[in-house]
Amino acid sequence: MDFNQISEPLEDRIAEGLARLAAVARQLDWQAAEAAGLSPTQADILRFIANRGDGTRLTAAAAHVGVRKATASDAVSALERKSLLRKQPDSADGRAIALKATAKGSRIARDWPASFAPIVECLSDSEQELLLALVVKLIRQLQLRQLIAPQRTCVTCRHFRENVAPGTGTPHFCAFVGAPMAERHLRIDCMEHDAA
Ligand code: SF4
Repeated sequence: MDFNQISEPLEDRIAEGLARLAAVARQLDWQAAEAAGLSPTQADILRFIANRGDGTRLTAAAAHVGVRKATASDAVSALERKSLLRKQPDSADGRAIALKATAKGSRIARDWPASFAPIVECLSDSEQELLLALVVKLIRQLQLRQLIAPQRTCVTCRHFRENVAPGTGTPHFCAFVGAPMAERHLRIDCMEHDAA
């Protein structure tokens, strides 16, 4: 018997495994949302907005969460009623509305449990570092193919200098911080991100 002939394609098994992990993480997020008195969509939108201190637009929140604008608008109204966010004029365009988390909303978002933490905690430091590099690579590819909303990752940031010290423990450099970076320092959602 040859396992090459009786195995499902590798990508199918990877997809199956990732789908199961994502389902567990989603379930944990839903439990956290329920405990906070929020729907999963409200929770996703609140965390997205709370991570953008200057406020953000409804369209950006909808794209990030992957819901229609009308659905995001309903969630925003509910969050506003719960005093977790407020609307204000956009500093970049006074005619537009920006969404900003209140102190209470920011606190809930800050204390939100990382849903994948219980999933990856069994990995060693080096395995987590390797996984982070793969995740960053996948996000970059998805972004290039416009299959994911723009993300504030190092690899799409104008401050990022990739692999400027190859073969060292800190091959990258962040011009914003002014410091070398290891793979484990790569960020997925950086407040200082400036799109390249
Ligand atoms: S500013 Fe943030 S996203 Fe940009 S390179 Fe530095 S750490 Fe990465």
